[in-house]
Amino acid sequence: MIDLHTHTSFSDGTDSPTELINKALASGISTIGLTDHDTVAGWDEAISHLRPRIALVPGAEISCQTEDGISVHMLGLLFDRENKELADVLEQTRENRIGRMNKIIARLNGAGYEITMSDVQEQLSDGATLGRPHLADALVAKGYLKSREEVFAELLHNNSPHYVAHYSPTPEVAIALIKAAGGVAVIAHPMASLRGRVISTETFKDYVSAGLDGIEVFHRDQSAENRELLINIASELSLVVTGSSDYHGNGKLNQLGESTTSPEEFFKLESKANARRVIKL
Ligand code: AMP
Ligand code: ZN
Ligand code: FE
Ligand code: FE
Repeated sequence: MIDLHTHTSFSDGTDSPTELINKALASGISTIGLTDHDTVAGWDEAISHLRPRIALVPGAEISCQTEDGISVHMLGLLFDRENKELADVLEQTRENRIGRMNKIIARLNGAGYEITMSDVQEQLSDGATLGRPHLADALVAKGYLKSREEVFAELLHNNSPHYVAHYSPTPEVAIALIKAAGGVAVIAHPMASLRGRVISTETFKDYVSAGLDGIEVFHRDQSAENRELLINIASELSLVVTGSSDYHGNGKLNQLGESTTSPEEFFKLESKANARRVIKL
């Protein structure tokens, strides 16, 4: 089984990269993508705790925003992490998430929630990308609500008055950066409309012009109808079709391997990187 999109405690997942590798192996996964939000900080631990019979696809899920303010997640896989332009944009995004978090906290304080940045930092592992899930965990720890899901539904969803965006590159810029770093670009859950506004079907061809390689079709947040539409778009535009769990440990219900990528599609995807970067023992 091939699962190309997972998170660890280096962003808003709850398993360490070591635990991720071990659990993936136990779940029968042969190829696992590590795609923490806007960071490659988990790669080294995953590489040093790699096990026989499992291959690692190093990557990152890059937060993007369209010019119309629509949030898009771009999976960058198999890129060269030494590429300075890409590393700089990831760093800028991570830094901007701190100021953004302070703004969200101020809005929540204004609405009567007593929560501070240090409450949020307590929920974060060292070196991890800060995100709304950590704020959600802090609100749960303070007894305001019961789970991340509840906090997102009531307070932190993209259309909430408490929501603030952070600096992010456009999807076209992110794709160009991933490609220039030798990697492959796959748009993550493009039709996950429960999270907020999504791009129109016409937009995909612009991303193909920028270098897009694939579309994440099989994902729990996309309906059968969405999937059919995306498969047709992928076929028209000669894009690779992927599926993945978007596993977050205990941070979400998503289970490792619940959606997967076929070996044929993965072979096509891997061959679009400029070097062999799948890591195996
Ligand atoms: P941020 O990157 O800070 O904007 O936070 C977005 C992240 O929050 C997403 O990548 C998801 O992992 C997580 N998330 C979004 N919606 C939910 C939800 N309803 N329940 C739990 N986690 C969510
Ligand atoms: Zn996440
Ligand atoms: Fe995502
Ligand atoms: Fe994700």
